[in-house]
Amino acid sequence: MAIGVFGGTFDPIHIGHLRTGLELCEHLGLDEMRFMPCGDPPHREPPGTPAGHRLAMARLAIEGESLLRVDDREVRREGLSYSIDSVAHLREEIGARVPLCLCVGLDSLVNLNTWHRWRELADYAHILVAVRPGWSRPETGEVADWLAGRRVDDARQLLQSPAGGVHITEMTLLPVSATEIRDALAAGRSIRYLTPNSVIDYIRDHNLYRS
Ligand code: ATP
Repeated sequence: MAIGVFGGTFDPIHIGHLRTGLELCEHLGLDEMRFMPCGDPPHREPPGTPAGHRLAMARLAIEGESLLRVDDREVRREGLSYSIDSVAHLREEIGARVPLCLCVGLDSLVNLNTWHRWRELADYAHILVAVRPGWSRPETGEVADWLAGRRVDDARQLLQSPAGGVHITEMTLLPVSATEIRDALAAGRSIRYLTPNSVIDYIRDHNLYRS
């Protein structure tokens, strides 16, 4: 058993998140990838959409795909949604031996040293990094130094241990963002094909993202 966890605001979830989650899962041979919508993100403005809706859309989006799951712990938890709390709780649940991979975009890795108790993340999980166009790997500074001893280039080797490695992988990330979806909806434009139809129906039925 090996588990991936993919955090974000998911306001709303879209095909960029879904494809990346699935491809990372297949690339590493994970048994499941959990999308974990945050409640109150520490690094950005609170999402405009209540957590219950973001969670419901994530659940609809993954329906029928057995490798994908939704984890609601950050929404249920009070206060800021720190990833370190989530991976620590997950580790407690799954036990010491199951490999756990925290997925982040390269944009997040570059700024990892601004995360709460960032060095401790690797005590609980591997860090799985998807390279996002426009961002390059950190070459100098404390994140680069921290990375140096943790890089695992062979994906299969990563799952030989439960935590502690950093694996960076290039993949074709679909050029979609939640901001673009919110803007399109506010302007009355179609979002067809940017997110599953079940999410589009939910947005319509709940009058979300209207200007
Ligand atoms: P926003 O436009 O509101 O900032 P977003 O589309 O970037 O949202 P988030 O919920 O903020 O989505 O991102 C969650 C995670 O998904 C982050 O790790 C981010 O790097 C990643 N991500 C965002 N867009 C894509 C995409 N098109 N393909 C792959 N990963 C993505």
